[in-house]
Amino acid sequence: MADVVIIGAGISGSSSAYELAREGLDVVLVDRFGPAAMASGWTLAGVRQSGRHPAELPLAKAAVDIWATLADELDSPTHYRRGGNLRLARTPEEAAVIEDIVRDQTAAGLELKLLKTNKDIREIAPAIAEHVLTASLCPTDGSADPSSTVLGFVRAAERLGVKTRFGERVLSIEVEDGRVTGVVTDQGRIPTRKVVVAAGIFGNEILRPLGIDVPLQIPMVTVLRSAPVDAVLTQVIGVANADCAGRQEYNGRFRVTSGLQDWHGGLSETRTEVGTRPRVLPTGQSMAEVVDLFGDIVPAFAAAQIEDYWAGLIDLTPDAIPVIDADVGIEGLVVTMGFSGHGFCLGPITGKLVSDLVRERPARLAIEPFKYSRFHNSREFTEGATLHG
Ligand SMILES: Cc1cc2nc3c(=O)[nH]c(=O)nc-3n(C[C@H](O)[C@H](O)[C@H](O)COP(=O)(O)OP(=O)(O)OC[C@H]3O[C@@H](n4cnc5c(N)ncnc54)[C@H](O)[C@@H]3O)c2cc1C
Repeated sequence: MADVVIIGAGISGSSSAYELAREGLDVVLVDRFGPAAMASGWTLAGVRQSGRHPAELPLAKAAVDIWATLADELDSPTHYRRGGNLRLARTPEEAAVIEDIVRDQTAAGLELKLLKTNKDIREIAPAIAEHVLTASLCPTDGSADPSSTVLGFVRAAERLGVKTRFGERVLSIEVEDGRVTGVVTDQGRIPTRKVVVAAGIFGNEILRPLGIDVPLQIPMVTVLRSAPVDAVLTQVIGVANADCAGRQEYNGRFRVTSGLQDWHGGLSETRTEVGTRPRVLPTGQSMAEVVDLFGDIVPAFAAAQIEDYWAGLIDLTPDAIPVIDADVGIEGLVVTMGFSGHGFCLGPITGKLVSDLVRERPARLAIEPFKYSRFHNSREFTEGATLHG
C-alpha cells in the first residue's frame, strides 16, 4: 500500500512527489510517458511574477524565492537565471497597455519598471530591435531549463525513496464509499488512500468517471528552438499583445513561442532515446509567423538556424488560473491541474501546497481562488491564456 500515488511527472507532480517524500511518506509517481513529457517539457519555462493574476501573484513570489536555491537543494542543475522579464511595446497602443501593467502591478507590490525609450531598453538588452518603443522590466523574473528541473525533482524524490513508474498509464482511480482505495494502471493495481491528479490536459480523462470535470479548453502554441549562437539576451521577452515570446537558453539556443492557436487535434507518439513521447506538430505557416514576429524584435533570432520545433498544448481553465484542491467530493483525492500556460514558474510552490492538502493541514498560502467548486455556478470562459515567458 502506497501512502500516496501521484499521477503525472510534470513539474507539478514531480515537485509534489519530492515534497511528500521529504515528509517521510511512501510515494509512487506514475507517468504515462516520463518526466517532463508534456507541458513541462514543451514550455518556454519563464519564471515570472509580472503579469500574473492577483490570486497567483503570492504563489509566483513564493516560487521565485524557492527557485533561487532550488539547484542546491535538489543537488542538480536547474539553469535558473534571474535575468529579468521585458515586455515590449511595438506600437503606441501597446505602449499604453504596458503603462497600465506597470501601474497596476506596482500597486500590487511588484517591482516593475517602465523603460520609456528604446535607448533605455537597449542599454540593458542590446539585442532588442531599434523600433521597439517602450517596455516593462521585472528584474526579479527569469527562466530555467524545464527538463533539467523536472529531472532534478524526480532524481531527488527517488533518493528520498519515491518509486517512479514511467511508461505506465493510469486507467482509473478506485473509490469505495466515497474515498480513494487505489489506482488502476495498464500494468496493475496500486492500493492507496491518497491520489494526486497532476495529469495536465489529460486530467479529466481520469476524473470524469468520478463525476469531476474541470472545464478546459486546449489551445496550442508553436515553439521553435535554434542552434546555439553567441549569448546576446539574458531577459525573457514578451510583447504587449502576447503574439510571441522568447528567450535565449543557457546553452545559447533561442527558444521562442507563438501566441495561442487553435489545436488541430493531432497528437502522435514517437520513440526517443528516453522512451515514447507525445508529439504535436505546428503548421509551417505558424512557424513562419513566429520567425517573423520574434525576429522583428530580436533580429539575432531571425539570423539563427532553427534546429527543432514542436507545438505545446495548454490546459486553459475559464478564468485562466489552476485548480489546486482537495475538496472535490472524494476523500483522499487532490487535484492540481489547469495551470493555463503559467504553471512552470509555480511548480516548486505547487508541490508544497499539494503536500499541505495531502497531509490535511491548512495550506501555507491562500488557495481559495483555486477551488474546483468555483465552476459549479459558471463554466463560461472569461479569460484567455497569455504567454509572456
Ligand atoms: C509552449 C508553452 C509555453 C509555456 N510557457 C510558460 C512559461 O514561460 N512560464 C510558465 O510558468 N509556464 C509556462 N507554460 C505552462 C507550463 O509549462 C505548464 O503550466 C506546466 O508545465 C504544467 O505542469 P504540470 O505538471 O501541471 O502538467 P504536465 O507537464 O502536462 O504534466 C502532466 C503529466 O501527466 C502525465 N499523464 C497524463 N495522463 C496520464 C495518465 N493517464 N497516467 C499517467 N500519467 C499521465 C503526462 O504524461 C505528463 O507528463 C507554458 C506551456 C507551454 C505548452
